[in-house]
Amino acid sequence: MTDFNTLGLSEQLVARIASEGYETPTPIQAKAIPLVLEGRDIMGLAQTGTGKTAAFGLPIIDMLLANGGKPAPKAVKTLILAPTRELVNQIAENLRIFARKTPLKVNIVVGGASINRQQHQLSGGTDILVATPGRLLDLLDRKALNLSAVRYLVLDEADQMLDLGFIHDLKKIASMVPDERQTMLFSATMPKTIAELSKRFLTNPERVEVSPPGKTADKVEQAVHFVSGKNDKVEILRQELTNNPEGRAIVFLRTKHGAEKLMKHLESRGFATASIHGNKSQGQRERALKAFKTGEINVLVATDVAARGIDVPGVTHVYNYDLPEVADAYVHRIGRTARAGKEGKAIAFCTPEETALLRDIQKLTGIEITIASGEPHATMERPARGNSRGRGRPGASGKPARRARPSANGAPRDNGQRDGQRDGQPRDAANRSRPAKNRRPRNRQGDRRQSA
Ligand code: AMP
Repeated sequence: MTDFNTLGLSEQLVARIASEGYETPTPIQAKAIPLVLEGRDIMGLAQTGTGKTAAFGLPIIDMLLANGGKPAPKAVKTLILAPTRELVNQIAENLRIFARKTPLKVNIVVGGASINRQQHQLSGGTDILVATPGRLLDLLDRKALNLSAVRYLVLDEADQMLDLGFIHDLKKIASMVPDERQTMLFSATMPKTIAELSKRFLTNPERVEVSPPGKTADKVEQAVHFVSGKNDKVEILRQELTNNPEGRAIVFLRTKHGAEKLMKHLESRGFATASIHGNKSQGQRERALKAFKTGEINVLVATDVAARGIDVPGVTHVYNYDLPEVADAYVHRIGRTARAGKEGKAIAFCTPEETALLRDIQKLTGIEITIASGEPHATMERPARGNSRGRGRPGASGKPARRARPSANGAPRDNGQRDGQRDGQPRDAANRSRPAKNRRPRNRQGDRRQSA
């Protein structure tokens, strides 16, 4: 088995991470670290939870230390871009642990926090800057930093950044970074847009793939309740939570409004719960996450964007209270559980209106989701949203249906569903947005999903 000593990292760094429990590299680390140390550009296809932060973070830290030299005032040597504040915080937290007892300075730049303070921190120069694109551009406008000394550029969760409409921001930022640089792009999925992005940003990249896109976490036991409506969802969820008092659960909803309402309901029924979504301030989100991590609460009600990339150990259950409108999001959601070799359960609810979404998920993952209760809705038979493939309804043979049948292959349409909360929303989108009263609802809930 590979160990960290064989990857080319410095002894000090290997010793440092060993004291943090990093003894055996994960597959993406074993593959990517030697390549990054060689100076190669990387196109990494890996989901969150696979150890990708260390896969790019460790070699970058070693290379920065080997090259030495303090960054000039306002200069940045490494730029890591990520879609959400939570992910930025998490990446920076990990990197600070790896870089402890070194002179390397790790800074973060995210919306929802004082821009003046960030400007001040950048003034002394930064070895590693972890940022969301929008706030970074604001600070660049203020000339709080310059990117002309960037040697390493990392785009993390690139698919999510594109989903959130950050493409123009990314292009703008990339144009300010020297061509002479090493670039690493990580994405959980590989839609055409990511392939195009990688062509544009990467030079002769080495592709590193640890888990095919759409592959759901192996250890996650998945089940679906076919329900007739919202009331059934609430009732089953309450039962599930009551039956698992020791569990630690994340409940995913599509909308901010829905998440808040459910959180309040659960709270009124005595569950220790908090919510995390785009209408929550940065402080509220951080407090909710902390309470969840420490076990003060054991139910976190969340929307996709707010929870993306969040790494909380010991999540036992993921509830897909609403099915996501993009099948990829299902894979991300259930990846919150069964981490670090532990087992986990992913329980979905499916109303008749959500049948096409379930079908998309089954197409993407290629698996049968076991039925926990109810019968597949008759609408399972209808082709998914203008897509004539994937016919066939579980139980259509006349035999009792206990499993939802995997459907024919075919990529889901990326219709960009999201709570829309993000840090540093793309500026073009922000400039284009209409006054609230003129806005049309964008989804079935009628939640227009504004940025935080
Ligand atoms: P990431 O995918 O980078 O968010 O990492 C997921 C989790 O796995 C984080 O909590 C890391 O600290 C942990 N982790 C990553 N690599 C290793 C490793 N080689 N050994 C032990 N834990 C790891």
